[in-house]
Amino acid sequence: MPDYDTDNIFAKILRGEIPAIKVYEDDDTFCFMDIMPRADGHCLVIPKTPCRNLLDASDAQLAACLSAAKRIAHAAKTALNADGITFQQFSEAAGGQEVFHLHFHILPRHEGVPLRAPGQMGDMDHIKQIAEKISAAL
Ligand code: AMP
Repeated sequence: MPDYDTDNIFAKILRGEIPAIKVYEDDDTFCFMDIMPRADGHCLVIPKTPCRNLLDASDAQLAACLSAAKRIAHAAKTALNADGITFQQFSEAAGGQEVFHLHFHILPRHEGVPLRAPGQMGDMDHIKQIAEKISAAL
């Protein structure tokens, strides 16, 4: 597996070099909105320390991310009045990974509503409004 690339987009977000719509952070994790949301409330939880994906993650990184993700999933479900949550993680290109800093997708779901196609830029004002609702529910 390749080494961690310090120039990946999420590393740049963590360093404040490119903007992100923040939902939550603690000492070990950061959560921000996906800019190409496949569902309203689609957000990503990442560790603050370097790691490509599930395959090189430490137990501590995984524990911190899953603990934060559980709290955020509850808040997102409440904020969006969702019926359920889809939780995803892709490791390496063959596994569907595009950004090589470990991240977990949280996707609030409503009964009978399919996910939107990937790769479609969302409306930033709408995404910001949803982020505020999730943050408020935390
Ligand atoms: P994947 O690596 O396949 O798990 O997916 C990467 C995810 O990151 C996709 O859902 C993208 O829409 C999302 N993404 C890419 N660039 C950004 C960015 N600058 N801010 C927020 N989300 C992003």
